[in-house]
Amino acid sequence: MPTTDPQLMEKIVSLCKRRGFVFQASEIYGGIGNTYDYGPLGVELLRNVKNSWWQRTVTTRSDVVGLDSAIIQNPKTWETSGHVSGFTDPMVDCKKCKARFRADKLDDARCPERSSKKPTECGGELTEPRAFNLMFKTNIGAAESTSSVAYLRPETAQGIFLNFMNVLQSSRVKPPFGIAQIGKSFRNEITPGNFVFRTREFEQCEMEFFVPPAQNEQWYDYWRKERMQWYLDLGFDAGKLRMREHDKSELAHYSTGTTDIEYEYPFGWGELEGIACRTDFDLKRHSEASGVDLRYFDPETKERYFPFVIEPAGGVNRIALTAMIDGYVEEQVEGETRALLRFHPEIAPITVGVFPLVKKEGMPEKALEIEAELRRARLSTYYDQSAAIGRRYRRQDEIGTPFCVTVDGDTLKDDVVTVRHRDSMQQERVKVGELRAYLLASIGAWKRPPLG
Ligand code: ATP
Repeated sequence: MPTTDPQLMEKIVSLCKRRGFVFQASEIYGGIGNTYDYGPLGVELLRNVKNSWWQRTVTTRSDVVGLDSAIIQNPKTWETSGHVSGFTDPMVDCKKCKARFRADKLDDARCPERSSKKPTECGGELTEPRAFNLMFKTNIGAAESTSSVAYLRPETAQGIFLNFMNVLQSSRVKPPFGIAQIGKSFRNEITPGNFVFRTREFEQCEMEFFVPPAQNEQWYDYWRKERMQWYLDLGFDAGKLRMREHDKSELAHYSTGTTDIEYEYPFGWGELEGIACRTDFDLKRHSEASGVDLRYFDPETKERYFPFVIEPAGGVNRIALTAMIDGYVEEQVEGETRALLRFHPEIAPITVGVFPLVKKEGMPEKALEIEAELRRARLSTYYDQSAAIGRRYRRQDEIGTPFCVTVDGDTLKDDVVTVRHRDSMQQERVKVGELRAYLLASIGAWKRPPLG
């Protein structure tokens, strides 16, 4: 049974708005269904998640290169990939209240008229399911005609397949190797929901890993483990993560195996990322449709072949939301509730809060000097001199800042500051000259504290 905790979700949503992580899009005009903007802290969180993914998947590896392909491609792309005919969800309408639902997700849906009720519980009857294409259509150029129709990409993967030969010819890569991309994707979801978990516009981090067909299983296994390890290294709770292998009936037409990394959300288990064996389907189809040979020529064996593809595909917004849900803790400290986000320091929007103990005796000047130095060292900082020091610590705890540095009367004499750690609340005295190195070492050594 999933553990459902609607209160936790409400707390996260309210924290996101109050502290500037996520706002409703077009709020002053009454919003636009399930669409969100990211505020100053949210944008840092997203950027850090993307950086962490990119470092792990591209920068620290010699066998993966990056790409940034266009959102609007030649519409033939989507005919060939099967998206025009097959990227659909089954949709049903309630004959009574006219609401639309995904026929395969009725259990998760709620009647828009009465949010406590599931579809049909309002007494309405549902229509037979119809296929609804999830791609957003647009028109290119000034004239709107059928020949000008184009699509906003529903996944970043196809841009990678279209550039397979370009990358192969311009970079010194050969199978097994990967092409990674982070970018926006668009899906006209029938029932978006659960805050930023499912939206119509979102960012994906995807990688297509091209392998000799005989190495398919070995690399599928490798990427499943590697992707799960990234979440564990980010400190996600191992007890709330699981791998779920799709059974045959769930597999996409091109796939011989797919595993979802799932997380136990307050609203139940849900997909965080999918790792799919896409076989040689896409390269073969694009070769046939374009007339361009997209086979790889192996100079050693003199063989020409379509590599098989393993694709880890995650959603940046969903990963960021999961980091918030997973990291949110409330504990009792000195008769007060302390709320904190236990982000890995690498993804925390702010790394260091810098405070003068009091607003006088030269402490603000010294604290500002230290803050400027840390900024120059490319650490993300926040200076705060208002309210009691305990309040300032709490404010940083709530947004997940892992370290706070406090300048007190002694600092002016001995150049030593207090570093306070978010998770343990322990404080240490550190020399200003050693502060940067100390913080970097603490970021590197961070481990998820045990629960409780
Ligand atoms: P779902 O079953 O949740 O609809 P999917 O299997 O269609 O997802 P993929 O096509 O595998 O998703 O996309 C890869 C990742 O992109 C997902 O694991 C998820 O993290 C993210 N993602 C997909 N659709 C959305 C969406 N509408 N909003 C936010 N993130 C999404």
